[in-house]
Amino acid sequence: MQIPTVPPPVILPRELSRFTQLAYNLHWTWSAPARDCFALVCPALWAATGNPVDLLQQVPPERWRALAGNVKFLRAYGRALAALDTHLSAPRTSGYEARGPVAYFCMEYGWHECLPVMSGGLGVLAGDHTKTASDIGLPFVGVGMLYRNGFFIQRLAPDGRQMNIFPRHDFGRWPVRPVAGKKGRELIVRVELPLRVVLAKVWVAQVGRVPVLLLDTDVPQNMPGDRAITSQLYCRGREVRLCQERLIGIGGVRALRALGIAPSAWHLNEGHCVFLQIERLRELRKRGVKFDEARRRIAANTVFTTHTPVPAGNEQFDPKLVEDYFAADCRALGIQFKQLLELSRERPRTGPVNLTALALRVSSWTNGVSKLNAKVEKDMWRHFWTGSRRRKEADAPCASNGTRLLTSTATNGPGSDRIQAVTNGVHVDTWLGPELAALFDDCLGPDWKLSLCDAAFWRAAMAKIPDKALWAAHAKQKARLVEFCRERIAAMRARHSAPPQDVLDAAVALLCPNALTIGFARRFAPYKRADLLFSDPKRLQRIVSRAGRPVQFVFAGKAHHEDGGGQELVRRVFQWCERPEFRGRIVLLEEYDIAVARQLVQGVDVWLNNPQRPLEASGTSGQKAGINGAPNCSVLDGWWPEAYDGANGWDIGAGREFADPKRQARHDAASLYGLLERDIVPRFYKSRAAWIATMKASIATVLPQFNSERMLRDYVEQGYAPAAGRV
Ligand SMILES: *Cc1c(COP(=O)(O)O)cnc(C)c1O
Repeated sequence: MQIPTVPPPVILPRELSRFTQLAYNLHWTWSAPARDCFALVCPALWAATGNPVDLLQQVPPERWRALAGNVKFLRAYGRALAALDTHLSAPRTSGYEARGPVAYFCMEYGWHECLPVMSGGLGVLAGDHTKTASDIGLPFVGVGMLYRNGFFIQRLAPDGRQMNIFPRHDFGRWPVRPVAGKKGRELIVRVELPLRVVLAKVWVAQVGRVPVLLLDTDVPQNMPGDRAITSQLYCRGREVRLCQERLIGIGGVRALRALGIAPSAWHLNEGHCVFLQIERLRELRKRGVKFDEARRRIAANTVFTTHTPVPAGNEQFDPKLVEDYFAADCRALGIQFKQLLELSRERPRTGPVNLTALALRVSSWTNGVSKLNAKVEKDMWRHFWTGSRRRKEADAPCASNGTRLLTSTATNGPGSDRIQAVTNGVHVDTWLGPELAALFDDCLGPDWKLSLCDAAFWRAAMAKIPDKALWAAHAKQKARLVEFCRERIAAMRARHSAPPQDVLDAAVALLCPNALTIGFARRFAPYKRADLLFSDPKRLQRIVSRAGRPVQFVFAGKAHHEDGGGQELVRRVFQWCERPEFRGRIVLLEEYDIAVARQLVQGVDVWLNNPQRPLEASGTSGQKAGINGAPNCSVLDGWWPEAYDGANGWDIGAGREFADPKRQARHDAASLYGLLERDIVPRFYKSRAAWIATMKASIATVLPQFNSERMLRDYVEQGYAPAAGRV
């Protein structure tokens, strides 16, 4: 689907006019020929920014004219265009037959670091979901927001304090374009707020064949307060947050309608965007459909994904605030506010507005993002269908002691079939390292991408890849990670005014390209327990510094800018890294974003994950590492219980559970040290063949099962197609 846009100014010679399309279609983020072409335009600028729109805006006309006559460049340009055209016209294999597209609503998207409109896993998942929709030709349109100040950039002070920087972004430099409405002018949608109307400009990010509409209230016609509605992702102010959620829901539907798009199914990716259903109700009521019938119809073709058992993902509001904002809508719907309130409450006649509760009631199919997560969510919401108040833990669905949530899931009461599982997966073309991708091309033939979900194919494939070649490809990816860490840490130390020798040490000597390298990168939310590794510093010191068998760790992660506990974790991990016994062997990189994630998951030897079970809904970073041949060493939480088979990685804690989180942490830490000492380190250093067998077991089991094509086909079969068929 192609959305009309306001064209950018023309600066290119006619022979290169399609370069604009290459630069603005995010297909380049998963297509090597386009990136190779960009690198030839201006190697230094491309290396510095990694954003093709910068090339368009900063490379002078005489350079473009020279390129138009440069044979090497023209060949690369031709290859890039051919790859794009092949993608855009590739056979559609989604099997989705309904008339209109699937409309997908999400607060954040992570396609590439040059378009920072995400905070973490949910965004990357949405980015991978849209890329995959384009790959398999699913008719699909996304809706999201464009944030003027984005999500904060993390810098660390010399004492490890996290500093949160909110840059002011210039959307003109991003690979997004304003959507053209009537007469070619910028498309604007209007959303009513109490006593005023707010306008939102509609932009589009073109993701291969999939457009994603992005709303932006920072337009001169709005009052200053309203211009700031789309300033920050996940701002904490309750009222602004409610405005954002009204905007994406109601404004999103209006943007689709303005473009003549009639979706056949709707996907609420997390409850934040649930108000789109209010707009759809209003449309039906206006056409004279009775309220109950309208509610049945909008639910019938709506799919809802709930992502996390922690409170941040299950947003709540004071009913009074919601009444201020939705009283007029209720009048238009011909209902009392009380009725909307009852639809939005977890329990009858009491408690706050809960967006997850509302989403459950206005959709017909709901899923969690791993089998374990679906089970936990089912238990969390059991009372919701039974009305039962018997079970105490059900009264506190977000209990901080996650263990109890898990151990109480043995039952299958009414409603227990209401939350299905679609386990997350990752976009292979985005996350597989270039050296490994080239190796697959060589050993498996170029069509391996047609067999992504075929487990037998991947088992057989491993026999076709010579051990030596796999090791060599991995070594290159790892060398790039070490180089990347050196640059980042040297730059940080220079900024900290460290002694020149320290900066130099970081730049040339930090980490060892041959040592066993373990990665840990995630949001520093307390339940992810980033400091578990440091539970017994003496034992850790022995592990990292044994002669002939060195071990090193690379950490990265941001704590939410309002999360004091998480920021304290960042500070503590930083300070451990600075201790003499760990300095240079354990590092913490600033600003965990897609660029950092890419280097880490492609370069490490082992991926470490030790959350407090069962609070990790799925986790996808371990999947990214797993397809690159880095086995997971993880607590059996999220996706890992579905993948772990004893040969493709390690399970921390052996599934044992304790009610007391402190005791659990002691148990898990001891288990982690034991695994490192007895198995991981010896296997890595004693037997290359045994290690490569583990790498291959990881690729062969993780790739076919936990890629985003498998995930999206599950959504089509279980969610989208049945939903579209219900109306
Ligand atoms: C993949 C990814 C995540 C998700 O990581 P999990 O901790 O495994 O959920 C978060 N942030 C970035 C930048 C990622 O690339």
